[in-house]
Amino acid sequence: MKCAICRNGETESGVTTVTLERKQTTLVFKQVPAEICENCGEVYLSSQINRALFKQAEQELRRGVFLEMVNYSTNNDWCVA
Ligand SMILES: [Zn+2]
Repeated sequence: MKCAICRNGETESGVTTVTLERKQTTLVFKQVPAEICENCGEVYLSSQINRALFKQAEQELRRGVFLEMVNYSTNNDWCVA
C-alpha cells in the first residue's frame, strides 16, 4: 500500500520491534510482522497484529515483569477474533 506519512513510498512486509509501556512495565516485542515504508521507514501494524500484541502483553503483565524482551509469537493458543 501507499505510505500515508510521506505519500511517496510503498510499504513492504517485514518485521519490526514494538515497545509497549504501562506503569512500571516495559515490554519489547521482537519479530512483529508489519508493513514498513521503503521510503521513510514508517511502520504499519494491522489491527489484527495490534490486538494480538496487546493480548500477549496482558499475559506478560500478569506475570508481573518489569522489563521483558518477547518474541512476538503467532502460535499461542489464543486466537484473534
Ligand atoms: Zn513513507
